[in-house]
Amino acid sequence: MAELIEKPIGLAAKPTRSQEFYDNVKRKFAEERDLRLNYRPNGTAQYTSEFSGELAKYEVDPYAGEVTPREPINDTVEVLFIGGGFSALLTSARLRERGVESIRIVERGADVGGTWYWNRYPGVACDVVAYDYLPLLDELDYVPKDHYARGPEIFAHCQAIARKYNLYELAVFQTTVTSTIWDPDEQMWNLTTDRGDRMKARFVICANGTLSKPKLAKINGLETFKGHSFHTSRWDYAYTKPDLSGLENKVVGIIGTGATAVQAIPGLGAAAKQLYVFQRTPSSIDIRDDWPTDPNWARRLPHGWQARRRARARMEPQLTVEQKAKQAAMSHEDKIRRQENANIEAMMKIHQRIDAIVKDKATAEALKPWYMLMCKRPCFHNDYLPTFNRPNVHLVDTKGKGITEINEKGVMLEGKQYELDVIIYATGFEVQKTGIYNQIKGANGLELNDKYREGIRTLLGIHSQGYPNLFIMGGYQASFQFNLTDMLQAQGDHIAACIDYARRHGYQSVDATPEAEEWWVQEVIDHRGKTNRNQECTPGYYNFEGEFQRRQDGNYNGGFFQYCNHLGEVQARMVEHFSFTKK
Ligand code: NDP
Repeated sequence: MAELIEKPIGLAAKPTRSQEFYDNVKRKFAEERDLRLNYRPNGTAQYTSEFSGELAKYEVDPYAGEVTPREPINDTVEVLFIGGGFSALLTSARLRERGVESIRIVERGADVGGTWYWNRYPGVACDVVAYDYLPLLDELDYVPKDHYARGPEIFAHCQAIARKYNLYELAVFQTTVTSTIWDPDEQMWNLTTDRGDRMKARFVICANGTLSKPKLAKINGLETFKGHSFHTSRWDYAYTKPDLSGLENKVVGIIGTGATAVQAIPGLGAAAKQLYVFQRTPSSIDIRDDWPTDPNWARRLPHGWQARRRARARMEPQLTVEQKAKQAAMSHEDKIRRQENANIEAMMKIHQRIDAIVKDKATAEALKPWYMLMCKRPCFHNDYLPTFNRPNVHLVDTKGKGITEINEKGVMLEGKQYELDVIIYATGFEVQKTGIYNQIKGANGLELNDKYREGIRTLLGIHSQGYPNLFIMGGYQASFQFNLTDMLQAQGDHIAACIDYARRHGYQSVDATPEAEEWWVQEVIDHRGKTNRNQECTPGYYNFEGEFQRRQDGNYNGGFFQYCNHLGEVQARMVEHFSFTKK
């Protein structure tokens, strides 16, 4: 076992078995996927994020207390961010460097932080290496405490950025933007909020995050449960107590086993009287090679170390001449087969690790994921699998079906009643929705969602023609990066460059041209759907729960290196991609 758990497995595993073995595993993957698709032909409609009536409590902010009263705001700022997470913080830093003074963040939470404001569940952490994930480390002269940062450290870092760049001054919290409407006469955005504000802004940045609106599975009888319940992004510490001692005498059920649940379950298992984990599809659990930052290493880091580290990470991996020749000689089918076999090999190592750690054989079998690695968000944890060796922790494997019935006592599954004191929903979030809670109307009065109805149309995933001075962060048609802050930093740098360009040239507005937008839509289409991987994957939010998608309605798959090149090209040739107006 020792060698098995020394290093994360990754995708470097070498295929060493017969092709028949890999083909059989692929068949099993397909069966498991089909089982799930048959249970849920309704795709993304199996979830709801419309939390009204009985469901309204699942979205209440448990961290902020009462909403602080204030007078409605009626003023004008130069740049307004909808959302106060990393997108806003990173871009603001770059705007400040370029001399922009009037910056306002409007945020639903009671502080900055976005994801890291809302997600405070026990064990919350990020499993992208902290020296890469935490942005602006050079600027803040900060070195993370560990190889992987925990939630509270990341949240504190967000607050430190806001303080350093003086972003609290104009920020408004506990406020949701409800409409963002372009005024063509004034060449300004008019915004209204749920607090009665009427704000004006010259530039608006949709920084509402990629996974920000919690969602619940539509489970029959969910609202009839008489015990306590909450979503992981609204953790009720008043009930559980900060050290989870409130669960000592409680029977706890958690629904979902995605990346959030994987981090929360070890703490819950240690604290609860009984813990029932209701699993629909297991996550892949790899090693988390964490360690405290070496203070000597940290002290010796030269100024600008993070920028250099990021620049290195953005470089395209260079193949040797021999590697290139070998690749060129291989047919498309051979390349795919090699990749798939290596992927299956990696998944088999994930399975072996489960066998080595989980003592009960039936539980170990149930915890084994049967899909290609990366079909779902891979997870990294050293305490998740051992938690299932605790006598008080019970895995309830629904074998792909999921929980479909809740009653006043708890969960009902195949005629068996699970009586619970509390149900925790680890059922995830709406994905990459621009303008959640918010109606965005552009120059021709068209709502952005209506424009997108026939397919998303943007330039670089950031600009959409007819929506001048509006910038979208973390939306579709942009590149996807496992380290999201790297992507957001690239977008933030670009947005700051565009705003700076407009200010320097005395332009009141900047809008993508129809031709530039069309070019980008075709780029997105060209780079999507080259393999069947998406359809072959088990359903999840990565593949829109198996729903049909237009090829343009997703991320740009040409690679991050290429995406950054395109950002640079557009910045270098602004006149070719944008139209400008003077006031
Ligand atoms: P996910 O959408 O990844 O997971 C939702 C879970 O709920 C899935 O396991 C899903 O099963 C399950 N589920 C849904 N409906 C039912 C049902 N009726 N019965 C039983 N189970 C059900 O949400 P998360 O909050 O876990 O993660 C969201 C994302 O946030 C991650 O993918 C990651 O990008 C990010 N994140 C990153 C972390 C990190 O850095 N470590 C930590 C936490 C989150 P099924 O798989 O079958 O659909």
